Amino acid sequence: MLDAAIDHLETAGQGRVWTPWPRDLAEAFAAALDGDGQAPGELVEHLESLLPHGVGNTHPRFFGWVHGAGSPAGLIAEIAGAAMNANCGGRNHAAIEVERRVVDWTRRLMGFPEGASGLVVSGTSMATLIALKVARDARLDFESRAQGAGHAGLVGYASSQAHSCVARAFDLLGLGSTALREVPVDADFRMDTHALEAAIAADREAGRAPFTVIATAGSVNTGASDALDTIADIAARLGLWMHVDGAFGACAMLSPQLRGKLHGIQRADSLAFDFHKWMQVNYDAGCVLIRDETLHMQAFSDRPDYLSREESGLAAGAPWPVDYGPELSRGFRALKVWAQIAEYGQTRLGAVIDSNRALALRLAAAVDATGDLERLAPVPLNICCLRHVPRGWTEPELDRLNETIVRELQLSGIAAPSTTRIHGRLAIRVNITNHRTSEDDIDRLVEEILRLGRSDRLRATARER
Ligand SMILES: *Cc1c(COP(=O)(O)O)cnc(C)c1O
Repeated sequence: MLDAAIDHLETAGQGRVWTPWPRDLAEAFAAALDGDGQAPGELVEHLESLLPHGVGNTHPRFFGWVHGAGSPAGLIAEIAGAAMNANCGGRNHAAIEVERRVVDWTRRLMGFPEGASGLVVSGTSMATLIALKVARDARLDFESRAQGAGHAGLVGYASSQAHSCVARAFDLLGLGSTALREVPVDADFRMDTHALEAAIAADREAGRAPFTVIATAGSVNTGASDALDTIADIAARLGLWMHVDGAFGACAMLSPQLRGKLHGIQRADSLAFDFHKWMQVNYDAGCVLIRDETLHMQAFSDRPDYLSREESGLAAGAPWPVDYGPELSRGFRALKVWAQIAEYGQTRLGAVIDSNRALALRLAAAVDATGDLERLAPVPLNICCLRHVPRGWTEPELDRLNETIVRELQLSGIAAPSTTRIHGRLAIRVNITNHRTSEDDIDRLVEEILRLGRSDRLRATARER
């Protein structure tokens, strides 16, 4: 199995991007569950047969959504982690200490003050939930932990480009997703901060309790980052908790040339981001940082006796991860994060980010230079939204053509961009967060988009409906 896994990674740049799982294999997997146990050889055969059927994100021409590509360091670390089988909810052992060191490295990278706390979590969705729970409870003097928050009229703000995990956190926290106000964006897809202030004032007027503003550092549609310093000023002046969703964008802190775009991130009360996207750590691994450790602990710890915990032995070493988040039993996610940083180092991880950004700019330049292609948004980081635009076509026809191009690229196994809507128009959305992607891959993508967009077959299906 180890040989097969290494071969798989060595050849990750070859073959198809995405290959659907054949029915017979799916059925063999189902049948095995009802069987009476397998010999090791048979089991390994099953496992090996799975390898070609991932989502495709290890391949250099996977451009969909925002998926990281993983690394061999992750594979090796997960072997060590599996051998230990550590439970990282708490207690006094090496895995807890490794997680603390990883969180501390992250704290320094993001410019948070000493004493800030954090956790390695499954991803930005969980990190956002944890951060906004601290924000909610801190606002209500932690009475919400026993009483709930339904009565308080809490409302928060994020731009129309914010990720859906923010509204989901509002839902899960009992605030209701409509308590998250959608603030419009400017021409660069950044939060309109005048509209933010107006929305806060209107809610106050109506007797509601604005408690948080969620800024985005690297939006999922276009890679736009809100004006973090301006938002930090507004949050400070109006007494709101500033949370930053930096799922992939926050990792631009690893790049000396991009870091400046994120100025103000160090002023946030909390930050959620992913190791598994632009830092290429294997799924899943994200991070939450909380500026004020006391508030973090007050929102999650169930043990008022924490001050009198054990000094030595397995029950020592508090506070534990369980005091900072909703999970008790949890695996040793931090090990693969540690291995990634230890093996590649901050400079090389940053260089991947710069290289990805250069590729996004190369793509943008190619689009701008090609009459049949149109770019639909600026390219502030690593995402380029474009479409094929034959002259004289209606908007619905263009939408269908570009949707078909994306589907054909995916089905042919040549490349896997995804789609989004920019100002109502269907865009081919190309996200580059993969250390394996090269200039050739970008050039090939442009070639294939042009070939498909000009093909009579695709043009006929897009127009005839
Ligand atoms: C991916 C993403 C999320 C969600 O993160 P998960 O790790 O998938 O939970 C949130 N916000 C942004 C901007 C993202 O790109």
